[in-house]
Amino acid sequence: MAINMITPRVGLTGELTVDGVIFSENGVIMIDNGWGKRQGREILADLRAIDKKLIAIINTHTHLDHAGANYFLYKETGCMIYCTLYESLMVRGAKQLFPALFTGSPNPILDGLDFSESLNPTALTVIPYDGQVTIDGVTFDIISTPGHSDGHVAVAVDNILFCGDAIVSPDWMRPRKLIYMTNPTLELDTLNRIRESSYDLYVPSHGSPVKDPNEACDMMVEMLSRIETFTREALEDGPVTLDMAVKYVSEKLQLRLRDLRTYNTARVTIQCVLNDCVMQDTMDYTVKDNMFYYKKLAPGETREAKKKMR
Ligand SMILES: [Zn+2]
Repeated sequence: MAINMITPRVGLTGELTVDGVIFSENGVIMIDNGWGKRQGREILADLRAIDKKLIAIINTHTHLDHAGANYFLYKETGCMIYCTLYESLMVRGAKQLFPALFTGSPNPILDGLDFSESLNPTALTVIPYDGQVTIDGVTFDIISTPGHSDGHVAVAVDNILFCGDAIVSPDWMRPRKLIYMTNPTLELDTLNRIRESSYDLYVPSHGSPVKDPNEACDMMVEMLSRIETFTREALEDGPVTLDMAVKYVSEKLQLRLRDLRTYNTARVTIQCVLNDCVMQDTMDYTVKDNMFYYKKLAPGETREAKKKMR
C-alpha cells in the first residue's frame, strides 16, 4: 500500500477499505484501519517509510473491515482509539456483541470470523455522535450517520468527509445488489443529510472518492427501495418466514448467498427492512404452529400484536 496525499495533510491508504491518514503535530491520525494484522502491518510499514508515528485511530464504526486492526496497531504503537459510545460497546465486547448482532445468536457460528485483533478495551476514548474532537492539534468534525450501523459517524477534516459505510461509491455498489444495513429509516435520513452537505470531497470506505455524493446516495436509496418492494411482494401470497423472505428477495436481486457470511449480511438487512415495516405499522407478524411469520396488513387494518397490547 502507499499513502496517496489529497491535501498537504490528508492522505488515503488501504485496499479493502479506503482509510484516512491525517498528519498531526507529532505523527499521524488514521480514520479506520482495515482488516486484521496483515493490513495493520502494511500500515506500519507505510508509516515507517515516511518516518511518522501513529498517534490515534478514529473508527467510523466497528465492523471488522474498518476496525479490524485496532488492537494490533494499539499493541504495536500505543495509539489511542476513538469511537462513539455504541460502537465502543461493540469494541469492548467484540468477541460477543458484534458476532451476536451479525449472526443473530449469542452463541454464534464463527467460521472464518476472528475478532481478536479489533478488541481493545483499555485504550478507548468515546467521542460524541455530533460534535468535534481535537487530537494532536487536528480538529475533526464528527457527524452522526446511523443506518449502516447504529453508532456510525462520518468524520470531516479540511472539508473532506470520510463517510465510512454511510455511502459506498457507485463503482462499488454497481456489481453488488445489497449493502449491510441495520436501520433503513435512519439510513435514509443519513443520506438526506449527506445530500444537503457541501464538502469538497466525499470518501466512502469502499470504492473511489467522489466530489458529488448524489449518485451514491441515489443508489443507496434505490437499493433500500428495491429490498422493501421485494419483501412486500414476498408476502403477497400469504405469511412468510424470515428465511422464505431472504430466499425470495435474494433471488429477485439475483444474489447468490454462497456461505454463512453472505447469508448473514443479506438476512440482517432484509430482516431490518421487514422489522422497520412492522414498526411503522405497514406490515404485521404472527407466531403460528411454533413458527414466526411476517404478513401483510389489509388497508386500514391495525397490527394484531399492537391490538393485543392495548
Ligand atoms: Zn461496515
